[in-house]
Amino acid sequence: MRLAEIIELRPVPAAGLLATLTRRCPLSCAHCSTSSGPRGEDTPAGALRRFVGGFTPEDRPEVLMLTGGEPLLRPALVADLAALAAAAGTRTSVLSGMFFAADGRVPDRILRALRHVGHFSASVDVFHEREVPRAAVFRAMHRIRETGMDVSFHVTGTAADDTYLTDITAAIRGEFRDQAAVLVNHIRPVGRAAGWASARTVPLRDTTDEGPSSPGLTAPCAMAAWPTVAFDGSVTACCNQRVVDARPVPEHLRLGHVADDDWAAIRRRCQESPVLRSIRTAGVGSCTDCRALGGRPAALDAARRAGSRPAAGAMDALGARLQRDAGAATLLRRYGSDRYASLVLLGGPGTREVPG
Ligand code: SF4
Repeated sequence: MRLAEIIELRPVPAAGLLATLTRRCPLSCAHCSTSSGPRGEDTPAGALRRFVGGFTPEDRPEVLMLTGGEPLLRPALVADLAALAAAAGTRTSVLSGMFFAADGRVPDRILRALRHVGHFSASVDVFHEREVPRAAVFRAMHRIRETGMDVSFHVTGTAADDTYLTDITAAIRGEFRDQAAVLVNHIRPVGRAAGWASARTVPLRDTTDEGPSSPGLTAPCAMAAWPTVAFDGSVTACCNQRVVDARPVPEHLRLGHVADDDWAAIRRRCQESPVLRSIRTAGVGSCTDCRALGGRPAALDAARRAGSRPAAGAMDALGARLQRDAGAATLLRRYGSDRYASLVLLGGPGTREVPG
């Protein structure tokens, strides 16, 4: 499974499920603000297994994305979830900080965990490189690729003109002969939690992620499309870290809990919530505005009414289809690093169109 296939599905409601397996992480990257650390919480394993085990060939997400913290601190859980998902036809992707690869090797327990995984992505940036050397990450990624799995890199820099980005993207392209896709993001005030799945939440050209939106400017939010399982099993409507970590989760952004709900119920709420339809098709301002919607009854009611109109479902589906058809690079021009967006096509049919 190629990275571009996954990114294309990102605006499609319930096409994917993001699952945080833990807030533990053995690394201490300076830019990580997901509250991850050596003693973070683990997401309840039994409830997660039951939830993913409830996928059926007729009703399942296309993609299950496992993230953290460091998901591979729970290799048995990764193996079980990927096997359960595969039994229903769902493909699994894992994002790792590569804590296990300091000597360039991939331990057997990690290779076993990845047996049913269809895509593997490594986080690389100036902070990770201080913890795990680049050469060791590259060696380990070659080993994972040898198993037949598609691999990619999630690279983060300070801004489009960050020379680190020029250097690391050229190094990856040379080392993997343009056969590993790269997703480039810029460091944001909120964490990397959902990693390359989240990219930037609301496009910066239209509004700001955490600040107040510019008067009169509001943008549809494609990120309100994949349910996200938080560290305590709560399921949120988006992967914005402040939504994932907020307790209580704002009611209009809460889809349920893996211990109480099955996939069919979560999928239905994600696809049919009038407020989420409004957020996806019209937007309600910045993420800050959106999270605070519950405190503005008139705005919440307007979003609910707009999303309840007879044509709202069709508009939602059309918007998702148009964004999917536009392709992964187009989506990342809005949500990732515009300058490097085409690198998501590396390793696939679009490789020859990627500028050298
Ligand atoms: S907080 Fe609202 S606007 Fe921001 S990513 Fe989540 S759903 Fe989208």
